[in-house]
Amino acid sequence: MSVFEARGLKIYYKTKRGYIKAVDNINFSIEKGQVVGLVGESGCGKSTFGQGILKILPPTTFYNGVMEIEGKNLVTMGEEDIRKIRGKKIGMIFQDPMTSLNPIMKIEKIFYETLKTHEPDITLEEARERTARVLEKVGIKPERMKEYSFQFSGGMRQRAMIALSLVLNPTLVIADEPTTSLDVIVQAQIMELLNELRREYDMSMILITHDLGVVAEAADKICVMYAGHIIEEAKSEELYYAPKHPYTQLLLKSIPNTNINDLDLKYIPGSPPDLLNPPKGCRFAPRCPFKKEICELKEPKVVEIDGSKVKCWLYSEVKV
Ligand code: ATP
Ligand code: MG
Repeated sequence: MSVFEARGLKIYYKTKRGYIKAVDNINFSIEKGQVVGLVGESGCGKSTFGQGILKILPPTTFYNGVMEIEGKNLVTMGEEDIRKIRGKKIGMIFQDPMTSLNPIMKIEKIFYETLKTHEPDITLEEARERTARVLEKVGIKPERMKEYSFQFSGGMRQRAMIALSLVLNPTLVIADEPTTSLDVIVQAQIMELLNELRREYDMSMILITHDLGVVAEAADKICVMYAGHIIEEAKSEELYYAPKHPYTQLLLKSIPNTNINDLDLKYIPGSPPDLLNPPKGCRFAPRCPFKKEICELKEPKVVEIDGSKVKCWLYSEVKV
């Protein structure tokens, strides 16, 4: 059973020049205990989707379609109800821990405030106990809750933020580039920690990253985004060993062997389209080596092939 689902979801930014179609008609689902990787190059809409789920985007943002958690549609939900879900049902881990860890508050105070938002009657004592428990889980000595986050190393700050996202025991955690700002060794440790925690808490996680190497290992399923669309969705091994969409194939070829952190896209000629006026056919067509006439004329539908879902005319034709 899916814990979260998006259907026909659109998230557009309103600007003076028009709407930026950052997430444009996507379908997505994640099951209990599952890790779903969301990958794609810069600007394709990954963070928009992640933050859109929490409704923390600018107030002028336009939403359409369905985002469902436990049968409730976040798209039509009022701010007051969203606030009850934010943090409690859906936790978020950002690339920069400072966005959640207020540097002028002691760690224990940050946790206390977060707990109090959802459990107004909680005592300081009880909050400390729960904070100690999650801090221990992420490998931080509980006594360090008396410190400020600026006294922590980058890796520890990221651990503290993970603990903060877990303290309310959410159903779904959205991790947006959780390891990008860390060095390679600490990156591996954080990924290992996230893996342990999701098993222990049986939580679901959307892991957003531009790094296919990171998700291939950690995720059960991977969704590849391109210019606001999900163009391929497949089990990790399937995606890694038998990519279907030309964009996924090129993305995989562009992973340098030596340093998986440095996703080098220079092998894909051209650049992603402007999301104010995206191409009317397949959004990847202008860069696609296999482009046919239909590709620039009509948007392909998502088709299922060997258990993968692909949005590409190459496969649509095979089907009919
Ligand atoms: P990255 O890998 O660089 O983090 P991303 O996949 O997370 O990229 P988004 O941040 O979701 O991409 O951006 C998607 C598109 O929306 C981009 O074209 C971006 O310029 C645009 N965008 C993001 N935030 C806003 C905003 N507040 N107002 C207008 N446009 C925005
Ligand atoms: Mg982003």
